[in-house]
Amino acid sequence: MSTTKNPVGQNANGPEITVDVLIVGGGFSGLCMAIKLLEARMDSFLLLEKSGDIGGTWYDNRYPGCACDIPSHLYSFSFEPSPDWSRMYPGQPEIHAYLKRIVERHNLSPYIRLNTRFHEATWDESESVWHATAGEGMKIRARLLVSGIGGLHVPYYPQIKGIERFAGPQFHSSTWDHSIELEGKNVAVVGTGASAIQFVPQIASRAGKLLLFQRTPPWIVPRMDFPIADIWKHRFRRFPFLMKAFRQFIFWRQEIRVLGFLGNRFVRRKATEIATHNLEKHIKDPKLRAALKPNYELGCKRVLVSDDFYPALKRPNVELVTEAIAEIRPNSILTADGVERPVDVLILGTGFRATEPLIGIRLVGRGGIEIHDAWREHMSAYLGVTVSGFPNLFLLLGPNTGLGHNSVVLMIEAQVRYVMSCLFLLRRRKRKVLEVRSDTQKQFFAEVQRRLQGTVWQSGGCKSWYQDPVTGENMTLWPQSVLAYVRRTKYAALGDYTLS
Ligand SMILES: Cc1cc2nc3c(=O)[nH]c(=O)nc-3n(C[C@H](O)[C@H](O)[C@H](O)COP(=O)(O)OP(=O)(O)OC[C@H]3O[C@@H](n4cnc5c(N)ncnc54)[C@H](O)[C@@H]3O)c2cc1C
Repeated sequence: MSTTKNPVGQNANGPEITVDVLIVGGGFSGLCMAIKLLEARMDSFLLLEKSGDIGGTWYDNRYPGCACDIPSHLYSFSFEPSPDWSRMYPGQPEIHAYLKRIVERHNLSPYIRLNTRFHEATWDESESVWHATAGEGMKIRARLLVSGIGGLHVPYYPQIKGIERFAGPQFHSSTWDHSIELEGKNVAVVGTGASAIQFVPQIASRAGKLLLFQRTPPWIVPRMDFPIADIWKHRFRRFPFLMKAFRQFIFWRQEIRVLGFLGNRFVRRKATEIATHNLEKHIKDPKLRAALKPNYELGCKRVLVSDDFYPALKRPNVELVTEAIAEIRPNSILTADGVERPVDVLILGTGFRATEPLIGIRLVGRGGIEIHDAWREHMSAYLGVTVSGFPNLFLLLGPNTGLGHNSVVLMIEAQVRYVMSCLFLLRRRKRKVLEVRSDTQKQFFAEVQRRLQGTVWQSGGCKSWYQDPVTGENMTLWPQSVLAYVRRTKYAALGDYTLS
């Protein structure tokens, strides 16, 4: 196959763009893949991004208070440490700016095509290439296909009776409409997940009345956010080993939490005590406290970090509503107990379609099988990355590689390293096609399911977005430590693959 440099410069409606690697998605995953390809002097690749800018999660989510919930000294690339993080948990603009800086530093722009949605790809067995379509009639031929489309980018819109008839403005947290004035209005927020607990404190003082509709309360631990003093930024710049040590410290502080999730009673009890104390410290009203106390085990749903959510609920203009919503009317919300509350603006903090794989994408592998059909029984990929029947396809943050306790950027880096090791394996063996053995994938799936048994995600007594809403199977989380995953993905073992 001919290699093509800087393919973005080519005519999109020309016959077919030919690249070695096609990357889909311009978030942490896609960018990491692009950087590592360039480092290995593999510059025949193209990165497609459907949005108008790179950044993924950190471009899309611009709601007030949007920030990471893992400190950025860890929630960033290990090979691109930044001494300049302004605080422990910087906001969206700072993380987006970090990713933009990285694109510039690595001169990635010529390889990126924005506003270009990837539609589908079909494996051509005779030529051993993927034929893909994207954008408006763009055709691409690629030897390798890497999906970095992320798991949390398609908003979940709840099916609530009458929601389409609501007369005022309504929007999802990930598509925040900043043109809507909230000052003095009756604002209803549906959901108390990771996004809602960040934006509720930001808008509570602006709204006339804020109604917060909660289905299940989250466990919340103190965030302990603080600005990083200039002297420390200076030290981090001057002595990079200090920054490394700080990253290590945060890594282990986060990593230890997984023990509680995997079944260690002592760690889970300690974490529960911290979260319970956090609730009791802030909320003295017994009725409100009872409404905010989760009735499932800590970790079963994502544990949230916040210092300002509970205080915001004590404001006189904020009401926590725990009754189920019966109906949304043009200017009000009716709850199951028959109470109707006037509403001017409706904000959905209802999260994302996290358990549905590869939304809006068609991938047709060997024998004409589409990946959603191959996954009809259950979604699975070896190490979350490779799928039997889909040669030369690599998924970043694929099935069962999300985390509930640590930075997923660590998982992304491990996966990209693993993909590179697959490419080196092909190169060393002078082969073009790599496909995971079906028995290897099956054994891995069985191992993951076995390991999930006994974890808090399976037995913690809750329904969470980690689980398939129908089967209850957890297809989202990695059931071990990050360290275990990094070890498992150090290199691609020849025995796991067929090369041709
Ligand atoms: C508000 C919020 C806060 C978060 N905070 C944390 C945190 O603190 N710590 C943590 O570990 N994780 C956090 N996460 C999870 C976060 O999604 C991941 O950390 C990380 O951003 C995933 O990167 P990604 O590149 O895999 O996916 P994304 O960032 O989602 O990027 C995927 C990209 O693919 C593009 N894309 C999708 N489909 C197509 C298509 N068909 N064609 C072309 N492009 C396409 C999307 O537009 C998007 O730009 C958070 C998520 C959210 C929503």
